[in-house]
Amino acid sequence: MQAFVGPMFSSKTEALHGQLRRQAHARRTVVLFQPTTNTRDQNNSTLSAHDGGGSFNPEKLPGKNYIAWVSGSAEVLSLAHQHKADAVGVDEGQFFDEGLPAVLSQLHREGVKVFYAGLDTDWRGQPFMTTAKVMTCPEFNVHKLTAVCSRCGNETATRSLKKDIGRSDPERIIDPGGKDKYEAVCETCYLAATAEA
Ligand SMILES: [Zn+2]
Repeated sequence: MQAFVGPMFSSKTEALHGQLRRQAHARRTVVLFQPTTNTRDQNNSTLSAHDGGGSFNPEKLPGKNYIAWVSGSAEVLSLAHQHKADAVGVDEGQFFDEGLPAVLSQLHREGVKVFYAGLDTDWRGQPFMTTAKVMTCPEFNVHKLTAVCSRCGNETATRSLKKDIGRSDPERIIDPGGKDKYEAVCETCYLAATAEA
């Protein structure tokens, strides 16, 4: 199992899609799971990463491949079985319930190749528990990705900063959005921005 984790705009989805395209070209049946809470991409007819890189388009790949919008981990398990998936991908994994890591482990034990992409921390810098559980699952190979800091250009941006952090309700942890609402920043710029807020 492989996990791609990090802040916004760190090419997690691009890495995930690359692995899934590879599986499809290897003639494996692939199912990509997207959470229904991720309203950002749901309105788009073609699924694509918000940073413009990578795509997973079942119509342009060999064999039987699917994109499934689901509300939770139970659906991931049932649909993976229903489609006889050889490989599964989960994007925006942080929006899934904490039962997801156990479901992915079960699929792994059944011989399914598993790929996960998700934010490690929210805009407050607190862990997303589903990603935290994935990262501590012994069978996951975890790739921590970084972005380019939008403020200083440092290549080690590890934080997702909410642009209106000073006006944000700290209880509203999940607030889907792209570059309209968020920027990736390094630790130094994050601390500076949150001190101002
Ligand atoms: Zn910076």
